[in-house]
Amino acid sequence: MTSDRPLFDRAAIIGPGLIGSSLALAMREARAAGDLVGYDQDADVAARARALGVVDEIAPDFPAAVAGADLIVLSTPVGAIASLCAALDAHAPAGAVVIDVGSVKGAVAEAAKDLREDILFVPCHPVAGTEQSGPEAGFASLFRDRWCIITPLARDDAPYKAAVERVGALWSAVGANVEMMDAGHHDLALAVTSHLPHLIAFTLVGAADDIETLNQGEIVKYSAGGFRDFTRIAASDPVMWRDVFLGNREAVLEALARFSEELTVLQRAIRWGDGETLYKTFARGRNLRRAIVEAGQETAAPNFGRDKRPAGDPGDRDG
Ligand code: NAP
Repeated sequence: MTSDRPLFDRAAIIGPGLIGSSLALAMREARAAGDLVGYDQDADVAARARALGVVDEIAPDFPAAVAGADLIVLSTPVGAIASLCAALDAHAPAGAVVIDVGSVKGAVAEAAKDLREDILFVPCHPVAGTEQSGPEAGFASLFRDRWCIITPLARDDAPYKAAVERVGALWSAVGANVEMMDAGHHDLALAVTSHLPHLIAFTLVGAADDIETLNQGEIVKYSAGGFRDFTRIAASDPVMWRDVFLGNREAVLEALARFSEELTVLQRAIRWGDGETLYKTFARGRNLRRAIVEAGQETAAPNFGRDKRPAGDPGDRDG
C-alpha cells in the first residue's frame, strides 16, 4: 500500500444518519476511504445524504450498495443488525471488512457469529454522539479525541486479525482513541456510563410530565438547568434507545438494581435528616465530575460552556 492510497477503496454506508454520515465525512476528510456510497431503508434519507455531499452516490438497495465495497459500515439502530447480517451473508463481497457502530456489543456479536468466514465483521462502538438524528446532524469532527471501543469476535485467523488492525487504523485516522474490549465488559461499562443515565432522563422527564398539578407550560417556563440537561438527553432517538435496552437487558438490570439501592439510601437520609450521608454522596459526585473534566471528556466551563442564552431566557435557577 502506498502512503497516499486510502485505507479502503470503496465504503458503503448503510443508514447514513448521525453516526454514519459523521463517519463518512470524517473518512473523506482523513482520506481514509475512496468512493463513498450510501443506502438507507428510507430513500429520502439517502437522497438527503447525497445532497449534503456526505456520500458520492446512493444505491437503490442493499445488494447494490455493498457490491464492490471493501468496507461496509452498518450505522443503523442495533435492532436492524440481525437482518442486515442475513443480507450480508447473501450479498457481501468475499474479503469485505464490515463494521457496525451500535451502542450494544453482545447482541451484535450474537447476530454476526454465523456469518460466512470470508466476511470480516469487526464490531465497534464510537463513544461519541449527540441527541440529534439524520444526515443533517452529522459532522466530521464527531470522533476526534473520543473513544472508539472495538470488541472483536472470537476469531483468531490471520485475515480476521488483519481486519481488526485495519479497523483500528480507520478509527485512529478519524481522530478517535481506540480501545479493545470483550463485548460483555463493554455492555456492563456502558450500562453504567450511558444506558442508565438515559433511562433516568427518560423517567424523570416522563414523571414531570405526569404530575397533573403542573401543566406543561409551567414545566417549560420554570425549567431549571438540571431539568433542562435531562431533557436534552431525553430528546435522543426513541428507536435507537428502545434497541439499546432490548439488546443490553442483563447489564442494564444489574446497573438499575445498584442505582435503586443508592436511591433508597438517599431517600432514607432525607427522611431522617441525615445530612452527613447526603453530603458524602454529593461530594463523591463532585470528585467524579472533576476526574471527567481532567481526562478531557468534558468542559470545565460553567453551565457546560453555553456562552449565550437564547433571548428572553432568564438563566439557570438551580441553586
Ligand atoms: P440515525 O441518525 O437515526 O440513523 C440511522 C439510520 O439507519 C436511519 O436513517 C434509519 O432509517 C436507518 N435504518 C434503520 N434500519 C435500516 C436498515 N435495515 N437498512 C438501512 N437503513 C436502516 O441513528 P444514529 O444516531 O446515527 O445511530 C445509529 C447507530 O449508532 C445506533 O446503533 C446507535 O446505537 C449507534 N450510536 C449512536 C450514538 C448517538 O449518540 N446517536 C452514539 C454512538 C453510537 P429510519 O429513520 O427509516 O429508521
